[in-house]
Amino acid sequence: MDPRKCPVCSSSDSTLLMQFTPEQLCLNNPSYDLDILREAIKGQEQYLSYSKCNRCSMVFCEKYWDDENLNIVYSDIIMHEKSKEKIFSIDKRRMLLNTWTNILRLLKFQGKIKLDSIKLVDFGCGWGDFLEVVNGSGVEAMGFDQDQQKVNYAKARRHRIAHTPEKLIEFGPVDIFVMNSVIEHIQDVGEIFNLVNSVLTPGGIFVCSVMDYRERFLRKSAKRLKRGLPALTKNLNPVEHVNIYNYDSVLATLEKYGFHFLATRHVLYVTDTYGLKNNMKVIHWFNLIEKWLLKLFSGREFGIQVYALKH
Ligand SMILES: [Zn+2]
Repeated sequence: MDPRKCPVCSSSDSTLLMQFTPEQLCLNNPSYDLDILREAIKGQEQYLSYSKCNRCSMVFCEKYWDDENLNIVYSDIIMHEKSKEKIFSIDKRRMLLNTWTNILRLLKFQGKIKLDSIKLVDFGCGWGDFLEVVNGSGVEAMGFDQDQQKVNYAKARRHRIAHTPEKLIEFGPVDIFVMNSVIEHIQDVGEIFNLVNSVLTPGGIFVCSVMDYRERFLRKSAKRLKRGLPALTKNLNPVEHVNIYNYDSVLATLEKYGFHFLATRHVLYVTDTYGLKNNMKVIHWFNLIEKWLLKLFSGREFGIQVYALKH
């Protein structure tokens, strides 16, 4: 199969940036079983790599993982108990509540005063913990996830879960589409955004979170890998994360698929806390300040959550 093209600019001109060994990946991911990973990847070690697009600098895995290997990864290599523990974390719950608060605030920006038949999709809903947070009168929510263990748990908690992406289209059009920690996993990014566009109503709110890695951080990790050490973070892991985004590439992706960027989680939080309500101009200035401030911390790992409107 042809190598993957750059998920941001579609160029096929890229250079190898990082090569991992199964040992290096397992050192960073204690929940991985080294023997299973070694066996699954035997003779295809080039899958454990990242390349950098020579046109737009996006970092991504050039290999297409087939369904068989992905199944091994998601059902055998990853241990579910560790991941399930996170749903009891107070910090995680606060973060989910913060996402919901930001969405409610944006609904008010749009002139809504009441929750009245608001429809929401959580794509990649996992154990259903965000569905839990938005649950309430006036909100109809539906989740989707490929991980059957997580889906079963969410269903047992009485959440509505779509079995196929087509069911989400049937459920739509929706006012809000949430996709937290998903796009880094997606091999065909265009296909997923086509789905978002078929489900979300024009003017609808799109929320997406992903890790934000800058050049300095990636360079340091690449050097460590060459010296036989693990990368600086477990999230640099081409088995699960085939796309490595940063602030600019996330915004470029939003624009490419027809979304108007509003603000990040932090900007919405700060402007709300200081009573700077309902003023998009203030938010715009804070966006610029944040963008420049983040450059100072480009050697660190952090996450980004963006809020956008569909054109
Ligand atoms: Zn590119």
